[in-house]
Amino acid sequence: MRKLSSTRWSPLRTLRAVTLGFALVAAGCEGDAGPQGEQGPQGAPGTDATVDPSLGTADKAFAGIGGKAAVQGLQNFELTVSGQAYTAGEGFRPSDPPLMGSTSNGTTISYDVAGNKLAIHHKRTLTLFFPLQQDFKEIVNGNDGFLDGTESLFGAPGGPLLSDRTAAIRRQQRFLNPHLILKDIAANPSIATDGGSALLDGSLHNLLVVSDSVHPITLYVNAKTGKLAKLSTLENEPLHRDVPVEVFYEGWETTSSGLLFPKNVYMGVDGHLVSSETRKTVTVNGTLAASLFQLPSGTNLPPYNAEDAARGASQHVFHQVFASFGIPLDGVDLTTSETVLTPGVHYLRGYSHNTLVVEQANGIVVLEAPLYPERSDAIINWIKAKFPNKPITHVLATHHHSDHAGGLRSYVAQGTKVVAHESLTSFYQELFRAPSTLRPDALAQKPTAPTIVPVAIGTPLRLDDASHPVVAYNLPNTHAADMLLFYLPNDKIAFASDLFNPGQGGFGNGPKELYTAIKTTYSLDVTTVTGGHGNTSSLADLQQAAGM
Ligand SMILES: [Zn+2]
Repeated sequence: MRKLSSTRWSPLRTLRAVTLGFALVAAGCEGDAGPQGEQGPQGAPGTDATVDPSLGTADKAFAGIGGKAAVQGLQNFELTVSGQAYTAGEGFRPSDPPLMGSTSNGTTISYDVAGNKLAIHHKRTLTLFFPLQQDFKEIVNGNDGFLDGTESLFGAPGGPLLSDRTAAIRRQQRFLNPHLILKDIAANPSIATDGGSALLDGSLHNLLVVSDSVHPITLYVNAKTGKLAKLSTLENEPLHRDVPVEVFYEGWETTSSGLLFPKNVYMGVDGHLVSSETRKTVTVNGTLAASLFQLPSGTNLPPYNAEDAARGASQHVFHQVFASFGIPLDGVDLTTSETVLTPGVHYLRGYSHNTLVVEQANGIVVLEAPLYPERSDAIINWIKAKFPNKPITHVLATHHHSDHAGGLRSYVAQGTKVVAHESLTSFYQELFRAPSTLRPDALAQKPTAPTIVPVAIGTPLRLDDASHPVVAYNLPNTHAADMLLFYLPNDKIAFASDLFNPGQGGFGNGPKELYTAIKTTYSLDVTTVTGGHGNTSSLADLQQAAGM
């Protein structure tokens, strides 16, 4: 198992402290205005009983969580929680801390363990792009899933969930509530093995390694108290590939059933905090109404797909993080809806992300490799079928955000040169070297040394051609420090991402920044605006969106 380096550790620790500080301040403010004594201090010091040191690690974990019988007797639980969700990889610079995607308050998680169903009634406020209050449910019943209400930032209604998302929801709850893992160990002790010991926060912990369909899960059991302090495992993230996932449990409190639940749970991926959850109420083995888990009648559910479910489980953080800020990316988007903008310039649009394919005399130039390698593989296959005798010479990356760069690795495996902002050379070099053992992509199967062509600030990079030259410009903006603008001077086409979605509009200053770059900074002659999202628009549409 891959060891977590201290550099992966420390950012999560730091962020966790920041979040805790924030939570304490918020609780103090609440206390001034609201009724007193709702949330008393946690148990007095010294209440952490010690467990028999001669116990094996699994038995210590059972003892620490309320006893094996209580774990075996877990039929259901219901939590009301508040918390914050964060997204890493979408900041101004790659090194920026995660951005808060949403806050929740009064969200209810109802888990019928015996009946294999769960329902999460979200009450949350999206915070990343503009504030938006939402009230909706994620329901998982056996292999079926349904999103009742609207989680999309753009207002798209929910509906039946694909198998990948259903599996991701399940895995998230399994990690947040390790009782579910311990219950499986109680039923089948052979899935857990002794993993030795480790120090965590200066205390000795015994490690319990639990077999798992994605990657073994390691539970850190406090050697003295039996309390679970941490879970760690590995999963796949489309951009960074194999990434460590860590969950920290804090403030275990006894419930009337005898089982203990942690007051606070923090999840991190690749060293970054992605969620922080505080449990306000915990009910164990109460009565859960069957209606909680009922899928709307007449629902036409997609058939369960085991392969999709396995992928969803192996990328659960990716799915749940994008959903947490209102941009669910469920399913694998392999659509290549083609529009020929001018002969030789092909706009391949997907459900959410687009790519522009430009035919030059010596080969094909690709603008933007979004989402994940699977999407790039589909586009590469499209190109090979369309232009069987031309190599893909260059792929141009607009900016570092994970949903716009997640497909670059497939092109590197083709020997394609990557054109990116000069500040991103080492960032991409690391990504292209990243191990991808859980889901081996094209680059993992064919490790290839990347060639990264930097675009220097103040020096546009021109990929010359008699018919379709392509120029990459540095694009000053407030969305990403490393943003590039692409321009096809002969075709009078511009391509940019996230500042303006042609045909759909843009957020904040984005349209203004893009229009200024095209019109003022570089004086480009543009008739058609294209981009990583949306469709096409005229320059006049962009000007109008910019209010200029
Ligand atoms: Zn972006």
